[in-house]
Amino acid sequence: MPQIFIDGQPVQARSDQTVLQAALENGFFIPRLCWHPQLSIAGNCRICTVQVEGRSWVEIACNMPVAEGLKVLTDSEIVRENRKATMQFLTLNHPVDCGVCDKAGECTLQDYHVAFNGTPSVSHDAKVHATKFYELSERITLDNERCILCSRCVRFTREISRSNALGIVNRGDHSLVRPAGDRPLDDDPYSDNIVDICPVGALLSKSFLYKSRVWYLKATPSVCPGCERGCNIDLWHRKPEWFLRSLDKAQNVTIERITPRENAAVNGPWVCNKARDLAKTVFERPRAAAPMRKGREVPVDEALGAARALLAKARHPVALVSSAGSNEELQAFQQAFAERMHCFVKTDSVVQPGEPVADELLIRADKNPNRYTARALFGDAPIGFPPETDLVVVWGEGFAFTELPRGVPVIFLNAFLAPENGHADVFFPLSLQTERSGSYTNFQGITSRFEACFPKPASVVDAQTVFGALTLAQAVAP
Ligand code: SF4
Ligand code: SF4
Repeated sequence: MPQIFIDGQPVQARSDQTVLQAALENGFFIPRLCWHPQLSIAGNCRICTVQVEGRSWVEIACNMPVAEGLKVLTDSEIVRENRKATMQFLTLNHPVDCGVCDKAGECTLQDYHVAFNGTPSVSHDAKVHATKFYELSERITLDNERCILCSRCVRFTREISRSNALGIVNRGDHSLVRPAGDRPLDDDPYSDNIVDICPVGALLSKSFLYKSRVWYLKATPSVCPGCERGCNIDLWHRKPEWFLRSLDKAQNVTIERITPRENAAVNGPWVCNKARDLAKTVFERPRAAAPMRKGREVPVDEALGAARALLAKARHPVALVSSAGSNEELQAFQQAFAERMHCFVKTDSVVQPGEPVADELLIRADKNPNRYTARALFGDAPIGFPPETDLVVVWGEGFAFTELPRGVPVIFLNAFLAPENGHADVFFPLSLQTERSGSYTNFQGITSRFEACFPKPASVVDAQTVFGALTLAQAVAP
C-alpha cells in the first residue's frame, strides 16, 4: 500500500492504482472527460493533469501510477492554467449550442467550462464545421461538431459490447467518429450506453431527441423486467412541479427515457437496449381497463365476490403463478393459495423475434425477472392439470388458454389488453410495475427494489390486494 500525498494530504493507495483512481477513491476531485472507470486509459482529453511537486510541468493523472512518497497537486497555478487552456482547446470548434442540446444540464464539458475556463474563445479563426445529425444507427444520431474526440464511445464498442462498431477517421480537426469494423451499431444490443457515457451532447438518443429538458425530469429507481438479470434502471419522468396543466397532460405520466442505475453486483453501469425501450414495449402497451365476468365489465367488488364463490366451491384448484410477479406479490400469492392449490410456475415472457437470446455481458435467456423467487416458493415442476381439476387461476401472460382443461372455470389476472381477458370467468386488470413498489430477485439471488412513478388508474387493482382479499375469503368460505 504505497502512501502518496495529494494536495499535502497523505493517502493510502493500492499499488495497482493510478493517481486519478487513488484521488477519486479518497474524495479528491480531478476533472476527467476521456477517462471512464470501466474503459481502458486513452489519455487524450488532457483535462486531468496534475503537478508533481518540484516539477514545472503538468502530467495526466489518469495514466500516472502511484509510487511511494509521490506528491501531487491538483489545484496549483500551472494546473489551473493548463485546465483553462485545455478547455479553450476542447471548445475551439465547438458550436456552443447548449440552448438546444439534449445534454444541457448534465454535460461535463459545460460544467468544466464554467468551472475552469469561463471566458469566450480566444481564437479569431472561423470554427471548423463538421457533420450535424449523422445517422450512426436507427437509434443514435451524432453531432460531430459537439464531439471532443474523447473516444469513450469507440472504446465501449471495442471493450464492453465488443461490436467494434465505431472508429475515428481522418486527422487533426478533420477527425470524425464513424461506423467501422465488423458490425454496424444497429446490431449492437448495448449501443445506447454510448449516449450515456458521451461526456458531451454529441451522441443523441433519437427516442429522447428534443423531448424534454433534463431539469424537468426526475429519476425513479426501478428494475428492468426484460430478463432474469434484473438490471437496475432509472425511469425518467416529469417532476410534479413541472407538470403541464393545460397542454398535453399525458406527458405528466409518461416515461421520457430510461438509463442504467449503477449496481456493481448486477449490471455495473450498463443496460441493454431492451431496457431503453420498456416504455414503448411494456409500460405503454394497451391496458386491460376493467374487471370482468365472462367478458362483462363489473365493479371490483363484484369480481372479487365471484372469485370467492369459485374458490369456495373448488376442491381441486390449480394455479399458474407468474414469474414476473414481485417478491411481495409472490409471497402474498403463497399466503393466499399455496396450501389449497397445486401451484406451478409459469413462463410469462419468451424471446421475441430478433431479440438477442443471451450473451456473456448481461443478457440472459430467461426473459422473466423473478423466476428465482417464484421457484423458491412454488418449485419447478412442469405444468400439469390433474383430471379432477375444477378451477384454474392464471396470473400473468404467457399461457395459451387453449392448453387449459376444457369446461373448467378460470380466474385470470393480467395487466394488458388480450382476447383471453374476456374469456375468463372472472378477470382482474392489474397495475403495472410503474404504479407500485416492490422488488425482484435475480438469477444470482440479488434483490433489487423498484418504486412507483405514477398512480394506478382507478379501475385497475394491485395483484397483492386481490390475493389479500381472496385470502380473507377463504377464511369465511364454507
Ligand atoms: S461522440 Fe462523444 S463519446 Fe464519442 S468520441 Fe465524441 S465526445 Fe467522445
Ligand atoms: S440484460 Fe436483461 S435485465 Fe438487463 S437491461 Fe437487458 S433485458 Fe433488462
